[in-house]
Amino acid sequence: MIKGGVGMNQVEQLYRWIKESQSIVFLGGAGVSTESNIPDFRSANGIFYQKYNRTFQPEELVSHTMFRRYPKEFFEFYQDKLLYPHAKPNATHEYLAQLEKSGKLSGVITQNIDTLHEMAGSQEVIKLHGTVDSNTCQACGAVYHLDEFLQKCQSHPIPKCDCGGMIKPDVVLYEEPLYPGVFEKAIEHISKADLLIIGGTSLVVYPAASLVHYFRGKHLVLINLTPTAYDYQADLVIAEKIGKVCQQLKILDEQRIM
Ligand code: NAD
Repeated sequence: MIKGGVGMNQVEQLYRWIKESQSIVFLGGAGVSTESNIPDFRSANGIFYQKYNRTFQPEELVSHTMFRRYPKEFFEFYQDKLLYPHAKPNATHEYLAQLEKSGKLSGVITQNIDTLHEMAGSQEVIKLHGTVDSNTCQACGAVYHLDEFLQKCQSHPIPKCDCGGMIKPDVVLYEEPLYPGVFEKAIEHISKADLLIIGGTSLVVYPAASLVHYFRGKHLVLINLTPTAYDYQADLVIAEKIGKVCQQLKILDEQRIM
């Protein structure tokens, strides 16, 4: 038992389930990256509650309509609020990468468009909403990595391909379907899992939230600062910062080894 930890009895319970499990899946959202200083959408200081633009609501600014009709405003918001090229992985990204390495975790399913899980070393990352790392010309299909995309943004407020076409980030905007095969892959992982850990997500964005229904395993654990509509289905709800929980799990691991 660790003194002074956050909700240690709950973390110890989770630790025991992790040790007993053979196939763990993690499903996460923007709350996983807030401890890397990337704001989420729906926390009190999240992007949706910041004063930004009097004409458009943040939900509109990340929509396909906005991208098509008002690309200048779309790219202004996208660069200002959704791109964090200097962010670094935190304790959660690192713990999950380690859990995969140990053979326990079969994959991370994330709604995040940042690349922090990959940076931490996770191999099987199912990115439901795409990635900021890849950007495609809408005219010729040329692909630009983030650094090249940022260079294009510097020369023009609406990033243009060498062919003159508009470049679109490979992220799923509101009103757009998910990329083919991604949701099916997520279902495959979740339906085979014996422990599903969900963290840092309000579980209000669909179809991502509906993935919970495909879980058939033993224990469902939710780690989120605020309540979600799925709390009643969970075997364990930990209302703490997920990075702190992961730090505690790491300490429990180290104590066991010593
Ligand atoms: P959300 O903003 O709707 O919800 C985030 C949830 O995480 C909230 O319920 C909040 O209470 C909780 N939270 C915040 N910090 C936490 C922490 N340290 N520990 C535990 N819980 C914490 O985010 P969502 O559910 O992922 O859905 C919104 C959409 O936002 C997603 O589609 C995603 O693509 C997009 N988004 C992504 C990023 C990113 O890539 N990092 C950032 C902002 C938004």
